[in-house]
Amino acid sequence: MDCLFCKIINREIPSDIVYEDDDVLAFNDIDPKAPIHMLVVPKKHIATLNDIEEGDLALVGRLQYTAARLAKEQGFADDGYRVVMNCNDQGGQTVYHIHMHLMGGRRFTWPAG
Ligand code: C5P
Repeated sequence: MDCLFCKIINREIPSDIVYEDDDVLAFNDIDPKAPIHMLVVPKKHIATLNDIEEGDLALVGRLQYTAARLAKEQGFADDGYRVVMNCNDQGGQTVYHIHMHLMGGRRFTWPAG
């Protein structure tokens, strides 16, 4: 499958991996938008948030759980952080394999741009 994140998961493209289990991979974003910027990705290929099915609910919960755990383990959970999932063109999605951005290390503004 011609999917960038599937290739990262399959080690066909290098990435800076910070966490892995049977279902989820997390790696540092190649073009960080904050001092800390990781992507938490399901190993299952799901193109967009619109493609999540009922059978994926536990997996999607694992993305959030993993993000919070990484924030705690890396010591920025109490300061605060932002998680973002972009969907489709107007939502700013550029890689069509769902991923949770986990960003920290600075103050974020609201509303997001
Ligand atoms: O939400 P969106 O689809 O725009 O996010 C894709 C993210 O994937 C970007 O933040 C980009 O920097 C990141 N990326 C990466 N490694 C790559 C290609 C893209 O971390 N090889």
